Amino acid sequence: MGQVFQHATVVSIGDELAIGQSLDTNSKWLSNQLTAMGVRVIEHVAVPDDVQAMLAALRRLANNADLIVATGGLGPTADDLSRAVLAALLGDALVRDEVAYRELEALFRKRGRELTEANAMQALRPASATCLSNPHGTAPGLRAQYRVADRAVEVFMLPGPPHENRPMFEAFVAPAIKRPVGHVIRARVIHHYGPAESEAARRLGPLLDRDRNPLVGITASDGVISLRIRYEGAEEDAERLIEATDAEVERVLASHRFAVVDDPGAEVAPPIYVALLEELKQRGATLVTAESCTGGMLAECITSISGSSSNFVGGFVTYSNELKHRVLGVERAVLEAHGAVSGETAREMAAGAVRTALHAQIPGTHETHALSITGIAGPDGGSREKPVGTVWIGRASSSDVDVEARRFVFPGDRATVRRRSAATATAMLLFHLTGREMPRMLWQVEPDGTPPMGG
Ligand code: ATP
Ligand code: MG
Repeated sequence: MGQVFQHATVVSIGDELAIGQSLDTNSKWLSNQLTAMGVRVIEHVAVPDDVQAMLAALRRLANNADLIVATGGLGPTADDLSRAVLAALLGDALVRDEVAYRELEALFRKRGRELTEANAMQALRPASATCLSNPHGTAPGLRAQYRVADRAVEVFMLPGPPHENRPMFEAFVAPAIKRPVGHVIRARVIHHYGPAESEAARRLGPLLDRDRNPLVGITASDGVISLRIRYEGAEEDAERLIEATDAEVERVLASHRFAVVDDPGAEVAPPIYVALLEELKQRGATLVTAESCTGGMLAECITSISGSSSNFVGGFVTYSNELKHRVLGVERAVLEAHGAVSGETAREMAAGAVRTALHAQIPGTHETHALSITGIAGPDGGSREKPVGTVWIGRASSSDVDVEARRFVFPGDRATVRRRSAATATAMLLFHLTGREMPRMLWQVEPDGTPPMGG
């Protein structure tokens, strides 16, 4: 009933993955599953549809791993080589698997199609391998044992499409894995907004030592610093040691913390948006957005989260000055005097969005907050006073007359400036709502001294 595996590697097969045309998401999913089962994943590899490259990778990986899970290359076309490669690795001939052949025949009959020779190839397997039936597609998976010297390496080959390989993993790979008794791998991720990554690292000091258990890893993305606490060891100590490390992290970064996630592989949306939506829910508040240079990206990030309709009224994409005036009521004189990228315009956009949203309240909520974004995403359009990356973010709410705007200069290309704008706007409201106003945020260039305008 399953075997304890020490080290696994994940192999993704396909030219499109190796050359960077499509993203290898199978590795992410598979590694997350394996880790949760207590198997340490030591490597991901993406190899092209090439016999020599695939063989070389498998031989090399077999030296360090006792479990190899590969996806792709099992289809009916000439570039699908996984079957032949596995046979070569094992030194086996390819034989027809009668059960798999009958399943294929039945599947094609059901679909009213002739079983072609190419498709019949999919019922071939290396003589010592077994076929894994695939109820979601035509390609069966393969399982084999590869012996290197006196060691055995278990090799699974699954189809490329996620909707085929995930059920197959659950049906055949998971049951083959025995969780090591009392030994676990657990992770917790703590998300922070700001400070700069180097400053966070300085404050964390020896917590980031690489020989520590739990290990603390740091990643930065659009102003969000995520600390991953990873514990590997005796199950009975897991909770206590993770909590102790968490407490040390909190001691130095408490004022920046906004989310703690115990199942980090399952995150569906960037955590900053999830955190804002949760805060809005708790307060019975709603959000409305008024976007220029981000073109609706903030609204997109919020609405990518299921359940957002109870707290998101909607958003305006006002790219032109005329629409900023007509839809949000930004004064033409303000646009002329200060420009679309200015604190005045950002404030009027936010105030206008709140005014409009008041006519569209969601039942059960009693306050509305607006975020506005107007800036120069580049690469063109910058000037000396307003360089590329200059973005004003405005915030207004129905519950107080205070309307705030902050000026940022985000480094990076157009896509980066836009992403950072949306994330920073979200952080600005989240930290305001939780009473942890940051006098100066990451990438903010100067505090804005302009008096509130009312709204
Ligand atoms: P088979 O699926 O029959 O094994 P194959 O994987 O070589 O053969 P492809 O046509 O190359 O078949 O891939 C089918 C689809 O599977 C791709 O279009 C892609 O959407 C998905 N896919 C393959 N590998 C990956 C991967 N590593 N990550 C995410 N998606 C993948
Ligand atoms: Mg392929």
